[in-house]
Order: sequence, then structure tokens, then C-alpha cells
Amino acid sequence: MVDRYAVIGNPVAHSKSPWIHAQFARQTGQAIEYGVILAPIGGFSRAVAEFRAAGGLGANITLPFKQEAFRLASRTSERARAAQAANTLVLDGDALFGDNTDGAGLIGDLRRNLGFDLAGKRVLLMGSGGAAQGVVSPLLESRPARLAIANRTAQRALVLAQRFAPAAGGGYAEFAGEQFDLVINATSAGLSEELPAVAKAIFARGALAYDMVYGRDTPFLRLAREAGAAASDGLGMLVEQAAESFLLWRGVRPDTAPVLAALRGA
Ligand code: NAP
Repeated sequence: MVDRYAVIGNPVAHSKSPWIHAQFARQTGQAIEYGVILAPIGGFSRAVAEFRAAGGLGANITLPFKQEAFRLASRTSERARAAQAANTLVLDGDALFGDNTDGAGLIGDLRRNLGFDLAGKRVLLMGSGGAAQGVVSPLLESRPARLAIANRTAQRALVLAQRFAPAAGGGYAEFAGEQFDLVINATSAGLSEELPAVAKAIFARGALAYDMVYGRDTPFLRLAREAGAAASDGLGMLVEQAAESFLLWRGVRPDTAPVLAALRGA
């Protein structure tokens, strides 16, 4: 029987993960099958149990189940514990290992695909939900000069920053007088054509604006371009986090560049 993997989420029908993992499998000569599982809200653990019973070896977890996947895991990685969320599960007999590759995906995209070196840079991270939580620790490991976390609900950013000293946290107004070399939008505002409360002046000369949302232009990316900043969506992060999951499952890291190029071309 061929080794089985899947992405579990709700909604999940439009996930690009099956296509991405099919490219990785072809490229590395690995025989795997990668499917899509729509789990009902409240039915996540049952969906995992059924997939395991059907021979599933691993799964990617997407909205809204990443926190639940973390709690369900019998063993977790340090990066999953830092994020309090799992986007990758390894189903190993009765054991369930939870990992989080989102942070490595972002850092990989910044370094590998965008040529951005974080060391010594001033970084503003917008948002304090699951995506933001998953990237704070790897961002700090890259030794920026400053990491500020701004969120609409300021208290969430404060709590997040306290967990990860020396990051600073607060509302958007708190950082309005500063300039940043990298501004990461880890909010879901772009999905509803909304803009977090930042102004053009936030971008330092030569800054990069990064929106984790992909597949659409967002008000944040438009603002950044108007300010003269370079702008990138989160498609590269999606491909890089998938490659990290593939490495965990199969022991081989695929080449992400041709897969990202094909997705961009499509
Ligand atoms: P989440 O847990 O629901 O958090 C949403 C965040 O967005 C919160 O901080 C929320 O602020 C903020 N927000 C929502 N609407 C806003 C608005 N109109 N103005 C300002 N802030 C707003 O979601 P998540 O899991 O962190 O995901 C966030 C985004 O990242 C999603 O769009 C997701 O698709 C994307 N993502 C991409 C990748 C990738 O591989 N590219 C990976 C993970 C996530 P409050 O706390 O004030 O509500």
C-alpha cells in the first residue's frame, strides 16, 4: 500500500498542499498519496483517528485546527510548543507527534527566495493569532535588532511579547513613530480587504513588506508599494513550510524553487 498523507482543515477544498506535495514526491522519487480531509467543526480528533485507522502516516493541519492538533499530540517539538499550535502531525503507531513548520517556512522564504537577511534588522510583526505566534521564536533566533509586535487587540500582543523577551508588544499606535526594515502582516485583514492601522511612514528606506496571505493583492501590499517598499505575499512561506513537513515525513528536503515558480506562473 502506498504511504498516505493528507491536509485536514475546514474549509480545505481549495488547499494547494496536495499539488505542492505531489510535485515534491515526483521530484524526490517518493511514492506517496496526499489527500484532502474536510473535518467537521468539533470533529477534528475523530478525523485524525479515522485517517490513522485507514493507514495515514502524516497530516498537515490548517485553519481552524492547529491549536487542537497541538493539544491532541502525545509528543510535540520545541517549535510547536513555542507556537502552542501544530501544522504538521506524524502518525506513528499509537503515538502522535506534533510539529510546527510555519516559522521555518517564513524564515526560509525570506532567506532563500527573497534574499532578506534578518540579522540586525528592525522588524514589525502585525497580528497575534496562530500565525504570528508560530513565527516569533524563529524570528528572534535570526537576531534582528528589534522585534515589535502590534495587534488590533493590544493586550494579545503584550502577552505574546512577554512570552518572548526581548520582543516589544502593543497596539499599532505604540509603534507609529518608528520605522522598520521588515513589516510582516500575520493578520487575516487582507482576506476581507482591510488594512491594519499602519501608515506609509512605517517603512524604512529599502524595507520589505511581507503579507502571509497569498493568492491576492492586499491593501497592506498596496500601501507598501505606494511607500516605495518591496512587497511579497505568503506563497513562498506556504511552499517552504510544506517542504519542512515533507522533510519530517520522508527524510528528504525537496527543492522548493521550481515548485514556487510553477505556482507563481499558474
Ligand atoms: P487568527 O488566529 O484568526 O488571527 C487573526 C489575526 O488577525 C489576529 O491577530 C487579529 O487581531 C488580526 N486581524 C483580523 N482582522 C483584522 C483587521 N481587520 N485589522 C487588524 N487586524 C486584524 O489567524 P492566523 O492563523 O494567525 O492566520 C493569519 C493569516 O495568516 C491568515 O490569513 C492565514 O491565511 C495566513 N497564514 C499564511 C500561512 C502561509 O503559509 N502563507 C501560514 C499560516 C497563516 P485580533 O487579535 O485583534 O482579533
